[in-house]
Amino acid sequence: MILELHEKLKNRETTARALAESYLSRIWEYDGELGAYLTILEEESLRAADFVDEKLARGEEIGLLAGIPGAIKDNMCLTGTRTTAGSKMLDGYVAPYDATAVRKLREAGAVILGKTNMDEFAMGSSTESSAYRPTKNPIDTSRVPGGSSGGSAVAVAADMAVFSLGSDTGGSIRQPASFCGVVGLKPTYGRVSRNGLIAMASSLDQIGTFTKTVEDSAIVFSEIYGYDPLDVTTAESDSKRFEDFLSSDIRGLRVGIPKEYLSDDLDPRVREVTEKAIDRFRSLGAEIIDISLPHAKYALPTYYIIMPSEVSSNLARFDGIRFGVPVDDHESRSAEFGTLLETYLDTRAYGFGAEVKRRIMLGTYALSAGYYDAYYKKAQAVRHLIRKDFAEAYKKVDVIFSPTAPEPAFRFGAKSDDPLKMYLSDIYTVTANLAGVPAISFPIGTVEEDGKALPIGGHLMAGWFDEETMLRAAYAFEQAGVSDPE
Ligand code: GLN
Repeated sequence: MILELHEKLKNRETTARALAESYLSRIWEYDGELGAYLTILEEESLRAADFVDEKLARGEEIGLLAGIPGAIKDNMCLTGTRTTAGSKMLDGYVAPYDATAVRKLREAGAVILGKTNMDEFAMGSSTESSAYRPTKNPIDTSRVPGGSSGGSAVAVAADMAVFSLGSDTGGSIRQPASFCGVVGLKPTYGRVSRNGLIAMASSLDQIGTFTKTVEDSAIVFSEIYGYDPLDVTTAESDSKRFEDFLSSDIRGLRVGIPKEYLSDDLDPRVREVTEKAIDRFRSLGAEIIDISLPHAKYALPTYYIIMPSEVSSNLARFDGIRFGVPVDDHESRSAEFGTLLETYLDTRAYGFGAEVKRRIMLGTYALSAGYYDAYYKKAQAVRHLIRKDFAEAYKKVDVIFSPTAPEPAFRFGAKSDDPLKMYLSDIYTVTANLAGVPAISFPIGTVEEDGKALPIGGHLMAGWFDEETMLRAAYAFEQAGVSDPE
């Protein structure tokens, strides 16, 4: 899609302004209902589009993303615009700088249409915990789009952006991509700079992309990755364009199927679609190999110790003094003026929602002097074992395939009162974050429910920094189509 639009722009069959206007008009038409955007940047995006058109008018070369309309999850800074991370805490926060990934997109000439809705501080799997509004799944508006990057997934799925950026700490790009029938890429930890991303859990967070096709995800990823002096965890790498390595020939590719991921509690409809997808890989000439990730069963509990611990530390800065709007709720207190501690308490009581508070408390507990060894340290040790499982697996296979989520998009309210049920949504995705490996979700089929064809995502993981092989496998699958193999 991006390549086609790029050709059209170059051949002057359309203009960047016309493109931006057509996407903005879809936003005005559909987003009232869908709620993918928290901020729409009409003037700014048209200005950016005109800039590209002026370049074209002068006969200058433009890059692949120039004039292409995209959207940014609202936990990434974009200079001069409101950046809320889906929280009341940051309601009035205007970012004073661009996140590195956002800056790279703007330098590439991409047209940023707006900031997208999300679960508060990226905690959630349904976008229901946004402090502003829920986002609806365009395929069936009685269902959630997944989360936490629900807004970014819906922006692309409903053609209200060509691409978008999301963040993924435990599955927040891949699970909504799966629920909305689009492609979601979480790169290797350290590939894309986290500078300017409002941190959730720093050792797990990674910025990635939503697109309609695997090729588009390779194109956007190629623009945003690379070493950044402003993020010490980014890796040095040679510059390459990942779309140049896509090929529909995957004969001999070794695809591992972890037996732990196709267990009996998997929704039988999801299992059927997954098994057909495995057949599809086989019919493309890939070698299907059964593997085991013996510690995968500990991934979710490990994640729910490490992630809240990092959350409790990262979110300490939102105290009404350093970050966040101070709230001093005198009425609830006897003193006429609150003390500094009361300002902290009132600000955090008012500014954070229930899920964020739950995780701060869990994390503070896990890190407390008496429990640190029992929980946090133990979880770190298990994380190491999970990493080792992957290192072993990649001696035998090139990629690992599973479903992305254990079920299709669920209805609003189905899990919002039961955090543990909600956490299970990430059962297949969190391992990639704990191990730091790259992963992608792409459509592999649908299941029928109440007359709607609900999308199911397939999940591929590859070795550290081997996005190339992973993108190639997903691309070959996509080219072959999702229908039944003969
Ligand atoms: N749904 C997961 C959670 O609630 C993942 C969130 C994320 O990846 N940001 O923690």
